[in-house]
Amino acid sequence: MSPSAHPIEQLEPTQRTLRRAQYEAFEFELVAQGILVRNASHANPEDHEYLVTIEDDLPHSCPCPADEHHRGACKHRVAVAIRTSVLEAARHAQRIRELQTSEVQATANPPSP
Ligand SMILES: [Zn+2]
Repeated sequence: MSPSAHPIEQLEPTQRTLRRAQYEAFEFELVAQGILVRNASHANPEDHEYLVTIEDDLPHSCPCPADEHHRGACKHRVAVAIRTSVLEAARHAQRIRELQTSEVQATANPPSP
């Protein structure tokens, strides 16, 4: 995996998915588990809200039916991947949580002298 490759190249979405990820009105909310992606193109956006998790600096999984049943990444994961600032924010938040977790563990298990 080349570090210079754009995240979108690693998700391998179909052209249709890529187009929908671009033109549909997605809203993003950073939460502890990842990014909540809400599709404001629908009349009831709260019924179209999915938690995309981040792993290895990529949108890793989405609980929507499309991600489960179709080949390639779903539009929610792609929507995150094409918005670099959203993905960056999630990566930084995850890094901070990892640092906090390791600090807690270090305090709980002090190194023996
Ligand atoms: Zn999805």
